[in-house]
Amino acid sequence: MQTHPHPFPISRVKIPNRQAIALISEHGDPAAQIGKDAAGGQNVYVRQVGEALAKLGWQVDMFTRKSNPDDATIVEHTPHCRTIRLVAGPEKYIPRDRLFEYMPAFVAAFQKFQQQEGITYPLAHTNYWMSGWVGLELKKHQNLQLLHTYHSLGAIKYRTVDNIPAVAQTRLAVERQILEQSHCIISTSPQEMDDLRQLVSQRGRIEIIPCGTDIDNFQPISRAGARQELGLDPQAKIVLYVGRFDPRKGIETLVRAYAQLLERSADAQNLRLLIVGGSDPQEDDGAERLRIEGIVNSLGIGASLEFVGMVGHDRLPLYYTAADVCVIPSHYEPFGLVAIEAMACGTPVVASDVGGLKFTVVPEETGLLVPAKDEAAFAQAIERILTDDLWAQQMRKQAVTRVQDNFSWTGVAVQLSDLYRSLLARSILQPAMFRTTLISTSSRSAIARAS
Ligand code: UDP
Repeated sequence: MQTHPHPFPISRVKIPNRQAIALISEHGDPAAQIGKDAAGGQNVYVRQVGEALAKLGWQVDMFTRKSNPDDATIVEHTPHCRTIRLVAGPEKYIPRDRLFEYMPAFVAAFQKFQQQEGITYPLAHTNYWMSGWVGLELKKHQNLQLLHTYHSLGAIKYRTVDNIPAVAQTRLAVERQILEQSHCIISTSPQEMDDLRQLVSQRGRIEIIPCGTDIDNFQPISRAGARQELGLDPQAKIVLYVGRFDPRKGIETLVRAYAQLLERSADAQNLRLLIVGGSDPQEDDGAERLRIEGIVNSLGIGASLEFVGMVGHDRLPLYYTAADVCVIPSHYEPFGLVAIEAMACGTPVVASDVGGLKFTVVPEETGLLVPAKDEAAFAQAIERILTDDLWAQQMRKQAVTRVQDNFSWTGVAVQLSDLYRSLLARSILQPAMFRTTLISTSSRSAIARAS
């Protein structure tokens, strides 16, 4: 028989003093395999923030919609951070523009979960406008501190797309309600804050807390080693794109800029363009990939260009490191995780002069910013970096420092944690709160515990 020096087996010792909080991400499943499923920045943000907050002392429950009957209902990421998949509508992939009708069911499933588990979350941090709507609904029925990160703004998106979906008016109205009625908006860049003020509402509290990146995973490694591992020519000049296939990501601009580079470069036979990302052709972005392939074929540049497909975060550092320059040609980007991932690996970035990219990329120091959709400007900026080794070397070092100093997930989570605690403290001080003994008790303990 096994004996235990401690009166209880360790596995049965329940760690007390953890305040449960909810992160809500109706699409963008935090438990999705990044780079394998159709995952983008929101998945990464919620998962990384959740895990980092758990390390800081919170019990983090991340809620998403179940979109596949084979997926587990609960996924434990770490002892204090889990994803809970709520059934809200058919358990299959539903495009975002048709998801809103299932949000009342999401609210009901969330409330049922709270009831079953005997938890009343005193704080929810919602992600994307539909989760924000869920948060506003929950707030009507329970004493809830509500924080929200937009990830994307309808007011900007609808300026740049041709087909405005039927849900557009609802989205714009909900985005305004979220700003005006949440306890705090987390804007990931000063540019996003300006956009919110100019395009959405003057009312409501906004705090700037950037997105982060895993600086233990995305860090400089040997370039020669990375190229060898990926079977890439050590002499090649490598241009890299990483991201989803979506017309707003501007891959067409990059492909056309690359054609210009090939045409005029004296070193054209050494140029390579790697396009990383994409998903199942049945998913939303399949059509865009086919469209880009069509453009590549019509330009006749397929020979030095490779569609790599999706790559997980485990192998992405190899691609970033192997590249001479990472290009982010988005029409708009609220933050743009790819920029800080590339820079963390020491790779200069050429990006559109829009949104969060204006904040993360320091022109001439960690890369270059050029007008969105301007093929000639992109070609010129890429060429400048590829042909000036000394400057590129300096930028590699500066890019790493910029990310390590400003954009680690741990740093981001510390800022969020402080904000959560101050909101919970304020909610306790509000006299109305004392009427709800259960909740005020749990909120009060939250402040004491999550430090
Ligand atoms: N990504 C990935 N593998 C791929 C393509 C993208 O892991 O093949 C990740 C990428 O590393 C980044 C995220 O997807 O963490 C994209 O985030 P970003 O903010 O740049 O764009 P979004 O998809 O949110 O528009």
